[in-house]
Amino acid sequence: MKKAQINEEKCIACGLCESIASDVFAVDDVAQVIVDEVSEELVEAVEEAIEACPTEAITWVEE
Ligand code: SF4
Repeated sequence: MKKAQINEEKCIACGLCESIASDVFAVDDVAQVIVDEVSEELVEAVEEAIEACPTEAITWVEE
């Protein structure tokens, strides 16, 4: 399964990723990934959040 990560230096805490995929991201002072691994049914939502993030702070973890 895939893992997602946030570059905290880039994140501006806009909240977009949480609004797109609240099962994966939670945003407080900075966005956090709240799951260890992204389940198959949430991969598409994470892809969408990656595309939507204004600062390109979200990436997949390279295995
Ligand atoms: S969409 Fe990007 S900048 Fe906005 S809270 Fe999520 S990770 Fe941070």
